[in-house]
Amino acid sequence: MMSSKGVVILGSTGSIGCQTLDVVSQNPDKLHVVGLACGTRVSDMQRQAQKFSVRHTAVGADDALDLIDLDGVDIVVNALVGAAGLRASYKTLMAGKTLALANKESLVVGGDLLMPMADKPGRLMPIDSEHGAIYQCLMGEEASHVRRLWVTASGGPFRGMTTDQLKNVTAKEALAHPTWNMGPKITIDSSTLMNKGLEVIEAHHLFDMPYERIEVVVQPQSAIHSMVEYTDGSVKAHLGTTDMRIPIQFALSYPERWDAPVAPLDFRELGSLEFAAPDTKTFRCLALAREAGKTGGTLPAVMNAANEVAVGAFLQGECSFLDIAACVEDAMEKHKVQRVESIEQLQEVDMDARRCALNYLSDCTAA
Ligand code: MG
Repeated sequence: MMSSKGVVILGSTGSIGCQTLDVVSQNPDKLHVVGLACGTRVSDMQRQAQKFSVRHTAVGADDALDLIDLDGVDIVVNALVGAAGLRASYKTLMAGKTLALANKESLVVGGDLLMPMADKPGRLMPIDSEHGAIYQCLMGEEASHVRRLWVTASGGPFRGMTTDQLKNVTAKEALAHPTWNMGPKITIDSSTLMNKGLEVIEAHHLFDMPYERIEVVVQPQSAIHSMVEYTDGSVKAHLGTTDMRIPIQFALSYPERWDAPVAPLDFRELGSLEFAAPDTKTFRCLALAREAGKTGGTLPAVMNAANEVAVGAFLQGECSFLDIAACVEDAMEKHKVQRVESIEQLQEVDMDARRCALNYLSDCTAA
């Protein structure tokens, strides 16, 4: 009999945090919560702590770091938002614990630092439907037999719209995602296709795959969560209902597979599966992220920081939808790329890029 795994959840009151607790409550003999950390919704977290008999709680990304070192912690679920999650990812891997990573920005910004520490199978488990899917399609296969990764995208709420039509779209419209129910930052990223750009960089690091062998395909039903194409022409796809508890549970159960009370996918009701190339001329963030990834070094950190600032401004109604890509592009153009050397260097680059983005956006509003 396996002993119960001790879990720390960083970002416990967000969408991934709440769904992780749901997975824990479905598996009371296999998982228990050792610590919880949140950003601002402290009373929500206190209710969670009471319900799950959790003694250790923390508020803010800095205090959350202390939870990682607690006795009895096997897995850290990093569901913090943005580059602020990098330190927690780094510390978790340094401490030799399993990192269940929903904070994709960690890998985008610091993949060069994190991946050498995730040297054993199961040390870094992605909590992202696409990467969980690719992870499973790769199980039992030789890396040398892989030809390409196919990362699927829903296309977001604005799929099919022209640049002109996108000029005046609002945050409220962008927050209405067609297939997945997620937090505000990632939902806006999905509407600009930046989320897919971040995921391409995430896939590059996680699966040690060159960018020219990572393809993005729009699959509007989100039934196919991603695919792996092999050198003999075979393609393996991972399908399932659009329920984040599936990839969350897989990250926590690996190398086992546990039962889950999720709605089964009925192919007879699904009817058809559509595919299309992404429109990267209109949704420029995907192309910008790819360029940042290919260039490498500190450029992905700059791209990510500028995006975080622009998304924050868009959510507040302080810039337009199209300003997001323009702001990211401006910050990337102004940056002198360096090799990644340390967390401190990345934090400095991140802060500079945020200042640059704020400057750019204040010019937009003045104009
Ligand atoms: Mg995803």
